[in-house]
Amino acid sequence: MKIAIIGGGLAGLTAAAYLSDSQDTSGTVFERSPQLGGRAFTYEKSGFTLNYGAHAVYGIDRHTLQQMEQELGLLFQSKQVDKRKVMYAKHGHLTPAPLDFINIMKTDVLTAMEKVRFVAEIAAVIGNLHQLKRYRTLGEYLDQSGASADVKELWAHLVCSNFFITPEDARKVSGEVIADYYHNLFLSQKPVNYILGSWATITDQLVGKINGNKQWDIAVKEAVESIAMENGKFILRTKTREAVEFDRVILAMPVQQVCKLLESSPWAQALNPYKENTCTEVLVYDVGFSKVVARPFHYISDMDNKVFISDVSATDHTIVPEGGQLLQGIAYLNDEFGDEEQKKQYLESKTLQMEALFDTYYPDWREHTAVKRVSKKAMVSSVKNIHTNKLLPNKLTGLPFLFCGDGCEGKGELAERAFSSGRAAARMLLAEKAETKALVH
Ligand SMILES: Cc1cc2nc3c(=O)[nH]c(=O)nc-3n(C[C@H](O)[C@H](O)[C@H](O)COP(=O)(O)OP(=O)(O)OC[C@H]3O[C@@H](n4cnc5c(N)ncnc54)[C@H](O)[C@@H]3O)c2cc1C
Repeated sequence: MKIAIIGGGLAGLTAAAYLSDSQDTSGTVFERSPQLGGRAFTYEKSGFTLNYGAHAVYGIDRHTLQQMEQELGLLFQSKQVDKRKVMYAKHGHLTPAPLDFINIMKTDVLTAMEKVRFVAEIAAVIGNLHQLKRYRTLGEYLDQSGASADVKELWAHLVCSNFFITPEDARKVSGEVIADYYHNLFLSQKPVNYILGSWATITDQLVGKINGNKQWDIAVKEAVESIAMENGKFILRTKTREAVEFDRVILAMPVQQVCKLLESSPWAQALNPYKENTCTEVLVYDVGFSKVVARPFHYISDMDNKVFISDVSATDHTIVPEGGQLLQGIAYLNDEFGDEEQKKQYLESKTLQMEALFDTYYPDWREHTAVKRVSKKAMVSSVKNIHTNKLLPNKLTGLPFLFCGDGCEGKGELAERAFSSGRAAARMLLAEKAETKALVH
């Protein structure tokens, strides 16, 4: 079976690593950029390891990466963010983020009675008994919950942080999605971990596995420009290859890019329900300091402006030069604007809020900055997981392809959905191959 995988991000590399583990497959991973990793791409600048995305893993002990570690023999280390150093800033006041029982007792974002209610809510989520899962959205649940304004704000803020969205969008996330997500996260012993050395630690090993099978190759700087079907075979065209034939194709890229690639093909119509999906974008503000600016916290989340700063190198010390420090600021963004000018002004105001947060908590940050990287609209999740959007299944009726990526159905959110859907797509093809073999024998 000769397989084409279009997209060399986390999803495509995961699918290819599983498939190339089986000796009787062959194939090619096509990636249009000069580098692999997609939105999990990592690069070096003046000794700092900068990530296009971030490499926090939520609930690593219950994460798809655990299965991949065993099944693919991956070797990586991770380190947990120190929960005692995670703070919320509310009206200029710093208080522990209520991430576990100890922090809930210490935090000022809830009163004593609200703490009792919130702990009861956590217990209900863990026990799979929480009413939230029966509600169409978090907003509808909160409106009918009878909870105090602080408890409502806390729920919305948690969803903002884990789904990288604004409070308005947090209210649109399905109750079932949230209940499932926090059931998993609250049961985790390791809620937030960083993979030491960034996503490159994982992607390099996936690439190593693919390259270990001589029947597989990876073609970078080679965008697939069209796909056609002739006599039951897929014919792919790229700038440098006129026509390459494959038995199966996995599309491992955001649904917006899938729609573009297939727009003038006979399959375009089947994608109509997914065409209007919106994505999640954030503003990213990375600053690398030449020397450590010690602070009694590693993460500050500004509850008023929905902007946060992570001291990434406090957890992953491998990503800075000797004595350096790397902070990553992120602002969740609205996506509804009257026109481009309004959008531009909004992004400028978010940048100022971000810089103001640095000014407040790292007053001399401008002097210490050795490296800076600002991205004003980085796509975190290709399909925002709100109830009006539709995640793409691995297999879609009427289409001969398989799909994977963070906009596909799968376990978890963000990168976990890229990994889990990449693994699922590969396993579907491997099962199909095993079935065909059994029929032949
Ligand atoms: C700022 C930011 C912070 C983030 N933080 C976290 C975090 O802390 N934790 C977490 O779990 N996740 C996080 N994420 C999300 C995570 O990075 C993504 O979910 C994941 O990288 C998506 O992988 P993917 O393979 O689905 O898609 P992509 O990375 O988009 O890969 C798709 C690939 O397909 C290629 N491609 C597209 N069209 C073609 C074509 N026609 N031919 C060939 N190649 C093509 C693209 O170039 C791309 O490389 C973050 C992302 C961002 C941007």
